Amino acid sequence: MEQKKVLVTGAGGFIGHHLVRFLKKQGYWVRGVDIKEPEYSPKDEADEFLVLDLRYLDNCLKATNGIDEVYALAADMGGMGFIMFHTSDILYNNVCINANTAEAARVNKVKRLFYSSSACVYPKYRQEETAVVALKESDAYPAVPDSEYGWEKLFSERLYRSYEQFYDVRIARFHNIFGPEGTYDGERAKAPASLSRKVALAQDGNSIEVWGDGKQTRSFCYIDDCVDGINNLMRSDFKEVLNIGSDRLVSVDDMIDIISKIAGKKIGKVYDATKPQGVRGRNSDNTLCKQVLNWEPKISLEEGLDRTYKWILTQVKK
Ligand code: NAD
Repeated sequence: MEQKKVLVTGAGGFIGHHLVRFLKKQGYWVRGVDIKEPEYSPKDEADEFLVLDLRYLDNCLKATNGIDEVYALAADMGGMGFIMFHTSDILYNNVCINANTAEAARVNKVKRLFYSSSACVYPKYRQEETAVVALKESDAYPAVPDSEYGWEKLFSERLYRSYEQFYDVRIARFHNIFGPEGTYDGERAKAPASLSRKVALAQDGNSIEVWGDGKQTRSFCYIDDCVDGINNLMRSDFKEVLNIGSDRLVSVDDMIDIISKIAGKKIGKVYDATKPQGVRGRNSDNTLCKQVLNWEPKISLEEGLDRTYKWILTQVKK
């Protein structure tokens, strides 16, 4: 049988390069595309790696040429700080990337496409308490995402849906994916990686800076579970959007305590209420996912943070 050819866009990024590795192990021929090479893994993990700016149709046509299935992960995004302060970049760059990827997939007769949406699409009014009710897929409407990033994701879900007449579309809403080999410093770093770096650099008995009051809640899904969930969804006949996340709600304070325990340090917290902290609480309702894919995350937060912390420790010691 001929090997199936797949494209991963955003293959230079965190989830993308883990997905390339996973798909190679599954036996696919994999092309990775990104505006930059992967920072923490060799680019030749993919059979072919192209550096292309996917905001342009001609580049999207090169990327999708000869491809059976696309995993569309490329996005200009980052942590809370980045999302709040780079609104026009987020809207312009990501709309261009997604519109041109969708159209190029049609021109090149791609058979199936996966789009990585986000829990950020869910409305503000359902995320105002720390003890929040977990979000099910149908909660996205009436729509009032709390950020331009969330609005763009919601728009792009609809954009890809409109191409269902040309190819199969699968869409997942990721909830805070974390793990080794992701950005851990600067405005593009997310909370688990950023907090792990701060704890790794802090002396035993010292304090770290925390954005907000530490009581804001989220759920966090380990990267290996995420790529497994993507694969399950891609191989299924289910056509509606699905959450991919954990349904274990923890506060930022809880997460710092878990990381400190892993590090074997006593770490204090200094809160900065002026820094962006996003919605008050957010959790994933996995009922539909369990029902249709028989999938749920397997790796505990403690195990995932242990692996993440150990990797970040090797990086900051360099
Ligand atoms: P990431 O920033 O590590 O990866 C995104 C990649 O897209 C980057 O390598 C970046 O260089 C690339 N990119 C940006 N602009 C590009 C362009 N013009 N052309 C080509 N490539 C470009 O982020 P990630 O965490 O791996 O996220 C992957 C996808 O999952 C994104 O679409 C993101 O919005 C979505 N998502 C992630 C999370 C999460 O918790 N990590 C949560 C929800 C949704």
